[in-house]
Amino acid sequence: PYDLLVVGGGPAGAAAAVYAARKGIRTGVAAERFGGQVLDTLGIENFISIKETEGPKFAVALEEHVKHYDVDIMNLQRAEAIVPGGELIEVKLASGASLKAKSVVISTGARWRNINVPGEAEYKNKGVAYCPHCDGPLFKGKRVAVIGGGNSGVEAAIDLAGVVGHVTLIEFGDQLRADEVLQRKLRSLPNAKVIVSAQTTAITGDGNKVNGLSYKDRVGGEEHQVELEGVFIQIGLVPNTEWLKGTLELSRHGEIVVDARGQTSLPGVFAAGDVTTVPFKQIIIAAGDGAKAALGAFDHLIRSSVP
Ligand code: FAD
Repeated sequence: PYDLLVVGGGPAGAAAAVYAARKGIRTGVAAERFGGQVLDTLGIENFISIKETEGPKFAVALEEHVKHYDVDIMNLQRAEAIVPGGELIEVKLASGASLKAKSVVISTGARWRNINVPGEAEYKNKGVAYCPHCDGPLFKGKRVAVIGGGNSGVEAAIDLAGVVGHVTLIEFGDQLRADEVLQRKLRSLPNAKVIVSAQTTAITGDGNKVNGLSYKDRVGGEEHQVELEGVFIQIGLVPNTEWLKGTLELSRHGEIVVDARGQTSLPGVFAAGDVTTVPFKQIIIAAGDGAKAALGAFDHLIRSSVP
């Protein structure tokens, strides 16, 4: 068995593996897609000490760093269940195999909910964005829309209004769902506009980049076109925890509930990164969180009776 098994190979999982291996304990990483979300990222400009890099390059660097240590990397392995046991925790894989470990760090990340309209997939990273902290500065002085009027959408619109030229917030329902204080802040901004009862029907472009967005007025039924250079989709970040339902405590958003050491509701099972209740989903935060969870797990191991 492993002393520590990491499930998920993004920034959080890679950091957990490096920290565990450096303690000299037997460490494995099982990941569906080693690298995680950074594989889908174009530019990364906010990982402190690396001024600028590209996602796939960053993913290779993560893997090289983990491989520098004695860690079993099991790529293309999807975990389907976790079974707590007396001394060993079992992780069942989709392949039919199962792995046993004295402690586990879950770092299966999250995914942005897609709106699934024409143009979204085509213009991803070419004007279609999901993360205002990451990509906001790319649209300096330009016109953007934010789709989604919940807290994350309204926060994104307020945040972007400070960087871009103009923000249009598009909400499907007949009113915004964000906290009142956020709505008030947004409405006070001179370069922000709110459109409600609007169903986005397409993101349009010139073949290379986004040039607009079409929506249907859900009251009158007319189609409208907004000219802009960027669209931020903010209709939810979904944690990859479907496989954990019923085994450990999840928040109402499906995130794994962790304490300050990354400990979950199951003894010996820790979690880190975007999959947890830790706020602000960013690479540097996930990596720090992975280090923390591995140290939490190590602390647990040296205190437990398992030899
Ligand atoms: P992830 O990166 O999501 O990794 C999860 C890992 O778990 C993957 O290896 C995945 O394959 C695996 N996995 C999932 N389910 C299972 C399962 N059942 N069994 C086994 N393995 C599983 N952040 C920044 O700081 N700066 C940026 O510029 C930036 N740009 C971004 C651009 C885009 C397009 C996206 C999508 C995100 C961006 N982010 C950025 C956010 C950043 O990528 C995430 O916060 C970060 O990757 C989270 O790391 P993580 O390790 O928690 O999860």
